Amino acid sequence: MNSNEIDIHKELKKYFGFSQFKGLQEQVIKSLLNKQNTFVIMPTGGGKSLCYQLPALIQEGTAIVVSPLIALMKNQVDAIRSLSSENGVAHVLNSSLTKTEIAQVKKDITSGLTKLLYVAPESLTKEEYVNFLKNVTISFVAIDEAHCISEWGHDFRPEYRNLKHIIKQLGDVPIIGLTATATPKVQEDILKNLDMTDATTFKASFNRPNLYYEVRTKTKNIESDIIRFIKQHKGKSGIIYCLSRKKVEAIAEVLQVNGISAVPYHAGLDAKTRARHQDMFLMEDVDVVVATIAFGMGIDKPDVRFVIHHDIPKSLESYYQETGRAGRDGGEGHCLAYYSYKDVEKLEKFMSGKPVAEQEIGFALLQEVVAYAETSMSRRRFLLHYFGEEFDDVNGEGADMDDNVRNPKTKVEAIDQVVQL
Ligand code: ADP
Ligand code: MG
Repeated sequence: MNSNEIDIHKELKKYFGFSQFKGLQEQVIKSLLNKQNTFVIMPTGGGKSLCYQLPALIQEGTAIVVSPLIALMKNQVDAIRSLSSENGVAHVLNSSLTKTEIAQVKKDITSGLTKLLYVAPESLTKEEYVNFLKNVTISFVAIDEAHCISEWGHDFRPEYRNLKHIIKQLGDVPIIGLTATATPKVQEDILKNLDMTDATTFKASFNRPNLYYEVRTKTKNIESDIIRFIKQHKGKSGIIYCLSRKKVEAIAEVLQVNGISAVPYHAGLDAKTRARHQDMFLMEDVDVVVATIAFGMGIDKPDVRFVIHHDIPKSLESYYQETGRAGRDGGEGHCLAYYSYKDVEKLEKFMSGKPVAEQEIGFALLQEVVAYAETSMSRRRFLLHYFGEEFDDVNGEGADMDDNVRNPKTKVEAIDQVVQL
């Protein structure tokens, strides 16, 4: 089937109810419909799922979607099923299925009913499944969260490395890889490991013009500094990220004592408490959530007005993801990070227990964070450059939205009197 023969706008409306494609979706879909290997790099929330869901729904055969998280797959399957009158239009294939369920999935695929088959990478290595999939019509293979294939990404999954080998056994099917990780190193790794250096690449801009970036030197007054900042943003929603659970608890308490409605969130709290604190934040029963990086995946609160990093993150990738939770609605988003070289040393010490290869990658990523914190140039330019994007720091959108541009100053030095908190 050729993309010229189908009115994809009509199909978009029919299946998803949208009248327009978002960003590069249309070009991506056309590329895939033309059977080209396709690589998509878009920030979180950019609309990557639709890039494979729509082509899957309108083509013959079944599209295989590889995704790392069972919860994510289940969500997507439920969403797709709600668009169709047939439950069998989408299935998940994983180790938790009974024999009867597996038989049903196979039946629906064979009959041509199933348009999207979600599989965890480890299930796709099962010989039984591969043998079955070899003998049915596969429209294409989508690798979501494709950065999982790279050790330079933030979520390396060794099973992703086997995908190329398995896809080859399925015959000549196009591949679409999708990720929100924009660093050139990770991109290279993805293309190489999926053996698709011929892929047509579509990369959206990672610029978030409504976010204001600021780095402050961390001193012993950090707590009162944070309290003052929050009081200047009275009644606004914000997230404070800390490195350790202990620090999360301590800061949440300090804020509460100072009359700020705040709750802690970290993996050491029981599931019930975590869910309650998250809901309180979403429902605006509290203004601030103090959290470890355990908080935020899939959180879609549009009016988060500030994200504070009490401690520096371990990579600029994480920093971008975490600050990216501010200003989703396009309104103000203030991203404030506290920096001290002592924290860098602390992170390095954490890493020293890891295998050498991992350590080296960890140190290299951390050095970029240090360079970002210490730079005197446009922070937006620095960040986007890290993602392989050239930003015009004079005329670009959001060019004056950082401390270095508004108040040019000399390098932030790691000063000796900073107190280890
Ligand atoms: P990503 O995987 O890139 O993070 P998603 O695929 O989860 O993003 O999509 C983010 C949101 O954008 C979803 O709520 C989705 O329904 C919405 N969306 C996707 N495409 C469109 C479109 N063409 N028009 C309007 N909303 C869209
Ligand atoms: Mg996605």
